[in-house]
Amino acid sequence: NTALTKRYIFERRFTNARRPCQRMYVFQYAADLSRYTSMAPHTSVGFVPTMGALHAGHLALIRRAVAAGDLATASIFVNPTQFNDPEDLRKYPRTPEADVSILAKAGCHAVLMPSVEEVYPAGGQSYEFSFGHLETVMEGAFRPGHFKGVAQVVARLLDMVRPQRLYMGQKDFQQTAIVAEMLRQLNSSTQLIVAETVRETDGLAMSSRNVRLSPEFRAAAPVIYQCLLDAKRLYPEMDAAAITARAMQKMESAGLRPEYFEIVDGRTLLPVGNPRQADFVVACTAAWAGDVRLIDNVVLRAAG
Ligand code: AMP
Repeated sequence: NTALTKRYIFERRFTNARRPCQRMYVFQYAADLSRYTSMAPHTSVGFVPTMGALHAGHLALIRRAVAAGDLATASIFVNPTQFNDPEDLRKYPRTPEADVSILAKAGCHAVLMPSVEEVYPAGGQSYEFSFGHLETVMEGAFRPGHFKGVAQVVARLLDMVRPQRLYMGQKDFQQTAIVAEMLRQLNSSTQLIVAETVRETDGLAMSSRNVRLSPEFRAAAPVIYQCLLDAKRLYPEMDAAAITARAMQKMESAGLRPEYFEIVDGRTLLPVGNPRQADFVVACTAAWAGDVRLIDNVVLRAAG
C-alpha cells in the first residue's frame, strides 16, 4: 500500500466485527482510488453512488456488492447540478462522519468523497445527454434539468471509478431508467443492478430527506405507500385514471400535497391507460409532506 499517495484525506482502520482485518479507505481523489482498485485482488468493482446521509437503503446496495464478491466502492457527493431548487441543496442533510463508519460496518472497501472541482474540473469532459420524454415526464416535469444533472454526475463518477457493476435503488425508479439509457448511449460495459426499495416498518420508503419530516408529517407520510399498494390491489379491475384520482384524494386527505400519481409502462415511462394491457407496469408518485418532497413507486406487474 506504500504505492498509494499520501493525498487521501484520511485512512482509518475501522473495526469491523465480522471482518476485523478489513480496512476501509476514504479517498478524496479519483487517481488514488484507481491506484487502490488496481492493486486489490478482486476481479470486479461494484459501485454505489450516493449523496450521503446514509440509511439502510444505501447499505443494502453496499451489501449486495459485497455479496457479489465485488470490491465494494461507494461515493458520497452532493451533486449541485441535479438540484433544481437551491433551498433543497442547502438543506440536504450532510453527515459524512457517520456515513463513513456506517459504510465500514457494512463491509465497504473504499469510499470516494470528491470535491465539486474534482468531479467537474475546469476544462474537463462535459457530458450532455438527451433522453427524450424519459427526462420530461413525472420527476422531469416537476424538477426541470434534474435528470441532466443526474446523468452528468453518474457519467463522471463512472469515469472516475470504472466499475463493472453499478448498484442503484428502485426507489428512484425513473432515475434507473435514465441511467440504463445513459449506459446504452455511452456503449458502456458497466452492468446496472437495481435493488428493491428498503422501507421503514410502516412502509415509508427510506430516504435521506426523511430526517427533515416533522413528527406530524412523519406520521402522515406512510399514506404514500398505502396508495401505491391500493393501486396494486385495484389495477386488475380499475382503470388508471380512477386509481390515480383515488390516490391523489387519499394523500390530500392525509395532509400531503401530491404532485403526481402515475401508472406507467416500466420501460417507456409513458402512462398506461389500461394496466392490464402492458407487461411491465409501475405506479410512481411524488408528494410534499410539509416542505419535504417524497417519492416512491411500486411495480404493479413485473416484466416477464
Ligand atoms: P441518494 O443518496 O438518495 O442519491 O441515493 C443513492 C442510491 O441509493 C440511489 O441509487 C438510490 O436509489 C438508492 N436508495 C435511496 N433510498 C433507497 C431505499 N429506500 N431503498 C433502496 N435504495 C435506495
